Amino acid sequence: MLVTMKEVLKMAEEGNYAAGAFNTPNFECLRAVLRNAEEMKVPVILSHAQLHEETAPLREIGPVMLFEAREAKVPVCVHLDHGETLEYLQEALDMGFTSIMYDGSLLPYEENVANTRKAVEMAARTGASVEAEIGVMGGREAGGKPASQKAEDLYTDPELARRFVEDTGIDALACSFGTAHGIYKVKPKLDFDRIEKIKSLVAIPLVMHGGSGVSPEDYRTAIRKGVRKINYYSYMSNAGVKAAKKLLEEQEVTFYHDVAQAAMEAMEADVRKAMEVFYQ
Ligand SMILES: [Zn+2]
Repeated sequence: MLVTMKEVLKMAEEGNYAAGAFNTPNFECLRAVLRNAEEMKVPVILSHAQLHEETAPLREIGPVMLFEAREAKVPVCVHLDHGETLEYLQEALDMGFTSIMYDGSLLPYEENVANTRKAVEMAARTGASVEAEIGVMGGREAGGKPASQKAEDLYTDPELARRFVEDTGIDALACSFGTAHGIYKVKPKLDFDRIEKIKSLVAIPLVMHGGSGVSPEDYRTAIRKGVRKINYYSYMSNAGVKAAKKLLEEQEVTFYHDVAQAAMEAMEADVRKAMEVFYQ
């Protein structure tokens, strides 16, 4: 059934776990995520990020995500991730998305607040939830990381996070505390004290972006400190690539659907491992 992010995060809060949010730019990803959620009987978040626009335009994949969510036997939120323009967010809301993320993290504070407030007003008209970001994460999904600054300097400032949540009225806060988007080249080192501090100052659930590639121990600690949503995609997608490559190296394959099937099964197994930790 289709639900809002706020509803999913409320369940996560009550159950002391983190809900998984997975990008689903194709059918294989959708299947991999929803099968696990149904088997484990847990709520889940399907995400669409603007960077997938070229291979999976929102206008076409959005209705498929919504269809799958409505058909699912578990609560499913359909979320637009890292929207950088209000127009793109509106397109998702018009379609029926139950959650949007406005990402103004690279903008000056006041501008980020002003746009996030507009996103909150837009979402209120359809009853959708809003996530926004303060602080800058490494390896951005869109745009470039500002050069000449140490990663730690870009982490979320707890006091600013408190102000941001009060100034905007958002439902979930994406914070930067050591994770990065994409595949990690060095083991991520998370600033747990920062999560704890932010959590003590804001009343809403915290979101970990760049969640795939973090160790199970670190996931558990982050969840204990207050993370209630973990964005996971790169490692799942890469598991699909590895399975497809292995199949093609080992066998003579004629049909593309056999490659897709192998990738889907590998992604399903990868998502399972992640979900077993998130929904501990
Ligand atoms: Zn992200």
